[in-house]
Amino acid sequence: MLAPYACDAAATRGRRYPEQPAPTRTDFQRDRDRIVHSTAFRRLVYKTQVFLNHEGDLFRTRLTHSLEVAQLARSLARALQLNEDLVETIALAHDLGHTPFGHAGQDELNECMRLRQRGGFEHNLQSLRVVDELEERYPEYNGLNLCFETREGILKHCSRADALRLESTDPGGVGQRFLKRWQPSLEAQLCNLADEIAYNAHDIDDGFRSGLITLNQLENVALFQRFRQSAQSEHPSLSAPGASRRLMYEAIRRMLSAQVYDVIAATQAAIGRAKLTKPDDVRYAGPLVQFHADMRQASGELKAFLLKQLYRHPQVMQTTQEAKTVVKDLFDAYLNAPAEMQAGFAARAMADECSGTSDIADALRARVVADYIAGMTDRFAAREHARLTGRQLLL
Ligand code: MG
Repeated sequence: MLAPYACDAAATRGRRYPEQPAPTRTDFQRDRDRIVHSTAFRRLVYKTQVFLNHEGDLFRTRLTHSLEVAQLARSLARALQLNEDLVETIALAHDLGHTPFGHAGQDELNECMRLRQRGGFEHNLQSLRVVDELEERYPEYNGLNLCFETREGILKHCSRADALRLESTDPGGVGQRFLKRWQPSLEAQLCNLADEIAYNAHDIDDGFRSGLITLNQLENVALFQRFRQSAQSEHPSLSAPGASRRLMYEAIRRMLSAQVYDVIAATQAAIGRAKLTKPDDVRYAGPLVQFHADMRQASGELKAFLLKQLYRHPQVMQTTQEAKTVVKDLFDAYLNAPAEMQAGFAARAMADECSGTSDIADALRARVVADYIAGMTDRFAAREHARLTGRQLLL
């Protein structure tokens, strides 16, 4: 059922450490199972998407976000005859490197790291570090030993400097495409767009649930308003005063479907124009998974609305500020006293190459601290902060 330009597990470029194939699963199915069983995956349930975990039980977390991305990506892959197992695997892994407290945590950790090591902290690169290095499950190597295609999909952005570093340790690996300006697989491209479609939709829902976004404000977002109006004209009961939740769900549902059908049609047309015959043709074509121009524009307008009205809402900005303080304090505390970290991280930070006052030792020590903090859940970070500083923030 796969298109000739889809990734085929039987033709994988393989794993960093060769393994016997599994008797009943393809290599991509095996990767997915390894991700679901990883520690980093379980932590996603207590990591912020937009709202902190303790602000309400029904808001998205990184885990439920990842499941929604996987659902959308699978639907799209099936319609486009791409590899469903691979898109599910990439979607479930795509946020594994996220810090506690969402983008506030990532920005602050980057700030702390930038001063000590070139490259700073970047959550995409960290997702790759999690599956390549930080998970400790197998006797003979670090990481989950995933397939090239999965790892490539996880690394959706990468600076030139980071790509050069990856290329120096792993020539021809997942850094190469950023240096050659090649595209990743269609499955990787698809997860990227599914991520955006998912968070635009669920952030409206969470924003409305929190009371920070109102239906009146959404009248200014053409994409939402179109589907709200069609829902109300077909179902007059949705205009009743008590029906706003149901109206919201129905408008979002219609909006999601329209975006999915738009991506399928626009991508099919782009694939047709590119005359693909095999997976490698994808690399040398431009980006192919896409919206039509009018949907791209409408989706951009929705994104801009969420940025202004939700992500920069004073109430969200207040927690953002506290989250940054927690991350900065933790970073300084562990750097000064590495023994305060869990045993494995403490041992890494106190190993010979991290000792002394050289810039290299300082940078290596900082990387261990960043790995430790990035792996934390929101609540573990807040508790550690209280333990180490005596201050109660975000608890
Ligand atoms: Mg995401």
